[in-house]
Amino acid sequence: MAEHAHDHVIVVGAGAAGLMAARELARAGRRVTLLEARERCGGRIHSLPESEFGYRADAGAEFIHGEAPVTHALMAEAGLRSTPVDGARWHVSHGDFSQDDPAAGQMRLLHRVARELDQDITVTELLDRHFAGDAFAALRSSVLGMVQGYDAADPGLASVFALRDEWMGGERGDQGRIVGGYAALVDFLVAECRRHGVTMRFQAVVSAVESSDDGVVIRCADGGVERGDLAVLTVPLPLLRTVALPPAMRERQQAAEAIGFGNVIKLLLRFERRWWLENGARDLSDMLFVLSEAKVPVWWTQHPADAAVLTGWLAGPPTSAFAACDEAALIEAGVSALAGIFDKPVEMLRTQLVASHATDWSKDPFARGAYSYATLTTREAQEMLSQWDGPVLISGEALYRGRDMGTVEAALASGCETARRILAGMRAGTLAR
Ligand SMILES: Cc1cc2nc3c(=O)[nH]c(=O)nc-3n(C[C@H](O)[C@H](O)[C@H](O)COP(=O)(O)OP(=O)(O)OC[C@H]3O[C@@H](n4cnc5c(N)ncnc54)[C@H](O)[C@@H]3O)c2cc1C
Repeated sequence: MAEHAHDHVIVVGAGAAGLMAARELARAGRRVTLLEARERCGGRIHSLPESEFGYRADAGAEFIHGEAPVTHALMAEAGLRSTPVDGARWHVSHGDFSQDDPAAGQMRLLHRVARELDQDITVTELLDRHFAGDAFAALRSSVLGMVQGYDAADPGLASVFALRDEWMGGERGDQGRIVGGYAALVDFLVAECRRHGVTMRFQAVVSAVESSDDGVVIRCADGGVERGDLAVLTVPLPLLRTVALPPAMRERQQAAEAIGFGNVIKLLLRFERRWWLENGARDLSDMLFVLSEAKVPVWWTQHPADAAVLTGWLAGPPTSAFAACDEAALIEAGVSALAGIFDKPVEMLRTQLVASHATDWSKDPFARGAYSYATLTTREAQEMLSQWDGPVLISGEALYRGRDMGTVEAALASGCETARRILAGMRAGTLAR
């Protein structure tokens, strides 16, 4: 038996939340075992080798959104820096490039209507009730673009109350990217976990968590068994329903269905040169984002870095149109979309392509989608999933109740909070079994 009661914590999932929880518990002197289904840490943070794109390109999370205090504190500890995301945002419609957002004027009206709502409704309801008709076509398209494209959300389910915090929540801080990619943060957390003695097991696909007289028994799909005093589950929401939990937790497990979970297809295309700069009279040298009506509608550069890489992004319900596509077909769809947006011969772009990577995150067996978003009943569901009255706690980005759900910050903050609750419970001797 370990030296403290409830000393051995088993953390399931080595993404940002699991690594953070493991690090916090281990450095407070607890015995921690981390069980991870993949052969790598990071989960939905997946940085590719520098040799492929000339820098550690991120196939998953890439940007730091908002103030992100936990992320910045961890970066300071790790001695990591970020660079601000800076550059021009171009809107492309029927071949015309413009830096003016066609919906900018009407957006103020949308903010006013959203602010005056006294009962939460979905985004589709908001648009149908207040912004129907041709006069609001550009506004509707912009809002749907944000809700689907940024939040990966279904507008028919997404909560306006949650989104108005995001749209109008005041000063957000600069967006940035970590120098060295999110991999640098994961590498730091992994090194910290090892330094504090965390045992890590890979290819450990957890299929059941049972409560026993003296704690938990964790069963893996390959027949492996781990025993501990407490378990912290940080698997993505869609994976939560694949793990058999103690009967007392089943109702809580069902609450997860009330939290939205969207999909993203992310493409990385590296070319021989930045051919998009060769655009006649138009100066695209500071281009950061391109928002278009193409099948892969959103693209960005690495500006101010001069990498000849374009990242393509398709999110939310429109990703289902690509369900039958393999990686090669996704890359071809991306190249065709770019040819249309920039009016270039598709063959020229194909011959320029030197490296490519496409991930449909709904097909990743240990993510089954990209990230969570708030529906009308998400806050109650989060409350329920966070309850802790047995030997199992649930953590991860989807449990975060702050403004930036679905982010790395949300995952780190959730992992940290879970570890603090456990440590406080241990100190007070009030841990439930
Ligand atoms: C394409 C994409 C782009 C994104 N862009 C951004 C961005 O720019 N900025 C941002 O802040 N966030 C972004 N995000 C969201 C961010 O990546 C996630 O919110 C965050 O990384 C989630 O961390 P987590 O620890 O909660 O979950 P995860 O990272 O998913 O970690 C959970 C871990 O559990 C493991 N696991 C699953 N099932 C089992 C099982 N049965 N047994 C054992 N282990 C299991 C998984 O393999 C995984 O390692 C993006 C996500 C995607 C997919």
